[in-house]
Amino acid sequence: PAPAEAVRTRGLYKRFGRQVAVAGVDLVVPAGSFAGLVGPNGAGKTTTLSMITGLLLPDAGSAEVGGSDVWRDPVAVKAHIGVLPEGLRLFERLSGRELLMYNGRLRGIPKDEVARRSEELLTVMDLVSSADKLVVDYSTGMRKKIGLAAALLHNPRVLFLDEPFEGVDPISANTLVEVLRRYTSSGSTVVFSSHVMELVERLCDWVSVMNLGRIVAQGPLSEVRGGQTLNEALLHLV
Ligand code: ATP
Repeated sequence: PAPAEAVRTRGLYKRFGRQVAVAGVDLVVPAGSFAGLVGPNGAGKTTTLSMITGLLLPDAGSAEVGGSDVWRDPVAVKAHIGVLPEGLRLFERLSGRELLMYNGRLRGIPKDEVARRSEELLTVMDLVSSADKLVVDYSTGMRKKIGLAAALLHNPRVLFLDEPFEGVDPISANTLVEVLRRYTSSGSTVVFSSHVMELVERLCDWVSVMNLGRIVAQGPLSEVRGGQTLNEALLHLV
């Protein structure tokens, strides 16, 4: 049976030299949530997400995704997460379609299936007419969309996105929102970092608030807000 929690970390800790970036984070995200990870610049959101998705080794603590330990069982975790990192390390000399084919083949998905999934995702992301253009010529919105498509190819159960809406035009942002909503309504989990509180308020049913490397509040959106706007609530928290 699928665990009730999609994500749980215990005492995650990371320092860079003398700078403690993440100072003992216990992050919890219930399965099926549309979860927002919020907090001011430098709060430790990116560092936390990087440790959960296996991109960065913690100094201490543990992380589980879907009940599997990220460092003890990386193969299981990799199979059921999708990641859209902040800096989108894409192969820019490929076309959008080639990028999806390449990522799908890397994942070990059979060629016919990758081709079918790629066309499906290109359509959903409204990228069919740009599919043969090089990713290097894509706008930020198009890059985020092709990045999300690549992250969704293998039908992951938990998606992690670091600032997915940063610098994205409104039409692409709407497409991203629609895709993510459809994805969570089918029972999968989304965790994304953002400092746009209006967006988090509109999309999320679960919020984790970080400040100075720690979780300072976490729970259902309505509880974290406590009758205020999320911005007002954050004034008291960070
Ligand atoms: P932002 O919203 O600006 O992306 P964030 O909440 O994602 O911020 P992090 O990027 O995780 O925060 O950074 C947390 C702290 O760790 C910051 O003080 C940052 O300067 C520091 N830090 C992060 N990565 C490194 C690194 N590779 N080397 C040194 N310090 C780092």
